[in-house]
Amino acid sequence: MTVAPSSRPRIIKLPPTLVDQIAAGEVVERAASVVKELCENSLDAGARRIDVEIEGGGRSLIRVVDDGCGLSPDEARLALERHATSKISRAEDLWGVETFGFRGEALPSIASVSRLRLGSRPVDADEGFVLRIEAGVETEARAAGMPTGTQIEVRDLFFNTPARLKFQKTESTEAGNVSESLLRLALANPDVHFRLRTNGRVALDLPPHRDLAERVRAALARRGAGVLHEAVGDENGVCVHAFLGGPECASTTARNTFLFVGRRFVRDRSLLQAVCMGYGELLERGRYPLAVLFVDVPGEDLDVNVHPQKLEVRFANPQPVYGAVRHVIGASLARAPFLELESRKAHSLAPGRGGKGALPMAREGSYDGRAAAERSRMSAGSRAADPVDLDRLFHPRSAEGPLEAPQPAKAVLPTQAQLPVVSAPPPPSGVAGLASLRYLGTLARTYLLLETEEGGLCLVDQHAAHERVLFQKLRTACEARDVPRQRLLFPIPIELDEARLATVGEAQDTLQTLGFELEAFGLKTALVRAVPELLAHVDPKPMLRDVLDRLAEGEAPTLAPAELERVLSTLACHSATRAGDVLDPPRVAGLLAELDAVDWRSHCPHGRPVLVRLPLAELERRFGRT
Ligand code: ADP
Ligand code: MG
Repeated sequence: MTVAPSSRPRIIKLPPTLVDQIAAGEVVERAASVVKELCENSLDAGARRIDVEIEGGGRSLIRVVDDGCGLSPDEARLALERHATSKISRAEDLWGVETFGFRGEALPSIASVSRLRLGSRPVDADEGFVLRIEAGVETEARAAGMPTGTQIEVRDLFFNTPARLKFQKTESTEAGNVSESLLRLALANPDVHFRLRTNGRVALDLPPHRDLAERVRAALARRGAGVLHEAVGDENGVCVHAFLGGPECASTTARNTFLFVGRRFVRDRSLLQAVCMGYGELLERGRYPLAVLFVDVPGEDLDVNVHPQKLEVRFANPQPVYGAVRHVIGASLARAPFLELESRKAHSLAPGRGGKGALPMAREGSYDGRAAAERSRMSAGSRAADPVDLDRLFHPRSAEGPLEAPQPAKAVLPTQAQLPVVSAPPPPSGVAGLASLRYLGTLARTYLLLETEEGGLCLVDQHAAHERVLFQKLRTACEARDVPRQRLLFPIPIELDEARLATVGEAQDTLQTLGFELEAFGLKTALVRAVPELLAHVDPKPMLRDVLDRLAEGEAPTLAPAELERVLSTLACHSATRAGDVLDPPRVAGLLAELDAVDWRSHCPHGRPVLVRLPLAELERRFGRT
C-alpha cells in the first residue's frame, strides 16, 4: 500500500485479543488442531486417560477431559495469557524439550476464537473450579466439584472469525480430521487410554496397551493393516523403531505413513522418502506404505521450534538420520515374513538399490509379479529426486487439486542406458494389429516378443497391456453409465476409519457409476454388495481403500474427468496386478486382440509404454551390418 505523505498512518500497539486471534490463525486452523493442542496439554499433564467429545464436526462442541495433574485457578488464568507456560523457562530448554507444548500459545489462541470453559481440580486440592471465557474475556469464575484433572470445553469455534469459518469443510470431514489427529497422538502414547465420541457415538476407543506394537496394531486395524513387520535398529546415535505394512497395503497418498520424531508426529518429505527408499523395490512408484516410524535423535540435535503447529522439526544433521531410517527399514524388510510368502523364487533382496536379479515381489506363476518389480526397479533410482508437494501429500483434501502420484518418467526402460530402444510411436493407421504379428515367446515372464512385419522386434509388456485393456473397458462403460456389476452373494465387510466411512456416504453416486455398491454398516464397517464385473476376481478391499482415498482427495464427491481417469487406472492396476499367470499362446493372442480392439494409444494413464519396438534397421546397425 502506498501512502500520501499527508495521511501517514498511525502506529498502534494491537489489543491483546486481536494479537491472540492473529496467533490463533497459525495455531488453530480447524477443530482438529484444537483437539491436538488440548490433548497434548493433557499428555504433558501426565494424563492416563483422555476423553474427547465433539459435536458438529467440532464446530459446535469440543470437550477434552483428562485425569492429569490439573491446575489452580490462578495458574489457569495465567495459562490463558499469551506466552505463559510451565514447560520451559530458559532459551536452552528449547533444545531437547520433552513436553509437547512449550510456547504457551494454544490456550489463549483457542480462547480468543471460541467460547471456552475450563474446569480443573489439581491433585492437591479438595475441590475444583470453573472459568468461562468468551472471545478471550473472562465471564465467570466459581468453585465446582469434580474429579482430579482438567476439563476443557470449546463451543462455537470461530464464531467471531467468519473468514476462518468459510475454510471449514463438511462436518464429517472435520470429524474425520479430529479422529486422525487423535489417532496420531494415540500411536505415540500407547499407555494412555484415548476415547473419541462423535455426536454421542464412540468413534475411537484405545485402552492402554502394553507397548507400541500392540497399540499400533490396534490403532491401524481399520486401515487394512494386516501383518505389520517390526523393525528396530540404531545407527550413528539415531534410533529407529518402525512398524511396516506389506506392499499390498500401500496406497496412493501418504495418509497411512505416520512419521514421529520423538513422540511428535511430523510431516517431513525427506523422512517419508527415506521410508520409501527403505522399501526399495517392494514399493511401486507413486505409492506410500502403511507404516509407523519412530525416530529418536539426541535432544541437542533437534530443533522442534520451527513450525507454528509443531508439525515439522529440523535436524542439526539430517543426512545420517535419513540414512539410518533407510538402512534399518531396508535391512529389516529383507527378513519380513510377508516377503517369504510373496517370493518363493526371490534370489536375494537388496532394498533401496536396483539390485540385479532381485525381484522379491515376483510370485511364481504370476502374471505381473516381475512387471511390478521391474516397474519399481525403474523408479528406485530416481525416487530421491521426486518433487513431492508435501502439503498436497499429507492434506490431499485441502489441496487445490487431487494429488497426482509421482508418475514414472515417460517411455523409459531400465535398459535404455545400454540399449537404445525406440519407444513405439502409435503405428500409422492401416497397419495390421498386434494380433496378426508372429508371437515368438515371452521374455522374463513379462515381455511378449512379437516379430513385426518388417522383421524387427516388438515387445509388449503384458501387465501394462492388460492394465490398459481393463482401463479402457472400464472407461467406456463408465462413460456410458453402464458398468456391468456382479452382485455378491455374501456382502464383504470392509473395516474403514471414520474419514473413509464418511467418503462412502459422500461419494455414493460416483461409487455407483464405477460399478460398486457399498454402504456404511455401523461405525467401523462398510458392506460391499456389488463390484464391477470386470474386477470380480480381485479382492475388493485393498482396491476400494485406494479408490476411497482417491475420492477423498477431490473437493466434490463427483469426479472430474481427470480424476475419473485416475480412479479407473487405480482400479485397473489392482486388477491387473492380481490377474493370471504365465500366459499360454491362446491367452497371449486374446490379450493382443483385446489390445487391438481398444483405443489405448490416445490415453496413457500411467505414462508407461505398453509396447517397445526394436526396428530391424536398429538391429542391423548394432550387428555392424549397415
Ligand atoms: P504450552 O502447552 O505451550 O505450555 P498452552 O497454552 O497449551 O501452552 O498451555 C499453557 C499452560 O497451561 C501449560 O504450560 C500448562 O501448565 C497449563 N495447562 C494447559 N492444559 C493443561 C491440562 N490439561 N492440565 C494441566 N495443565 C494444563
Ligand atoms: Mg500446549
